[in-house]
Amino acid sequence: MRKNKRGLLVVLSGPSGSGKDTVLGELKEEFDDLEVSVSLTTRRKRAWEHEGTHYYFVARAQFEEKIAAGEILEYTQYNGNYYGTPKSAIDAWLARGKTVILKIEVEGAANIRAIYPECVTVFLLPPSLEVLAQRLFRRESEDAAEIARRMDIARRELAHAADYDYIVLNDQLDYAVSDFRAIIRAERQRVCRRRHMIEEVLNSAS
Ligand code: 5GP
Repeated sequence: MRKNKRGLLVVLSGPSGSGKDTVLGELKEEFDDLEVSVSLTTRRKRAWEHEGTHYYFVARAQFEEKIAAGEILEYTQYNGNYYGTPKSAIDAWLARGKTVILKIEVEGAANIRAIYPECVTVFLLPPSLEVLAQRLFRRESEDAAEIARRMDIARRELAHAADYDYIVLNDQLDYAVSDFRAIIRAERQRVCRRRHMIEEVLNSAS
């Protein structure tokens, strides 16, 4: 039996510090056909980040050249920096039946929904603003002013959580990972993605 012909596009949003990278890190280990798109950004690299793994770090001029060349699928400005999804690989991955994850903020999510109406959108919700602030402070990658700006953006992003298909609560990592896993598994089995299997069974030799 062939796998899904067309892959599954999943948009994962959630405020900075909600745990998107941690949840995805766990799931990448267990799904061998999961592709997490690497975005371009003009923000500075954090100490632990790697070029090409976490982001492609580029200068503003380079980012703007790529927009002009039509190489960016969607982009936004977050906290004074550009963030964008490169066009190149996404359609090829979907054509190969992969599950493709875009880890992007709310504006980007709305743009992707307009381009790919069949995508599945998931919002990762922190248990409280207090926990979110604690996580950002513990991460030690931003100063207090930057954290305050990220908390302001977080409040605005939370107002869009109800526009998503699913809300996953990240109170306890294990539960959040297991809930996100359940969404991917169920969505892959939707009839719209598996209709070809019925024909394959009907056409198989008895
Ligand atoms: P951070 O600076 O914490 O890595 O990312 C800030 C925000 O930008 C996060 O919400 C992250 O998901 C979002 N982001 C990262 N890459 C992209 C992208 O390519 N497009 C959009 N729209 N948002 C992105």
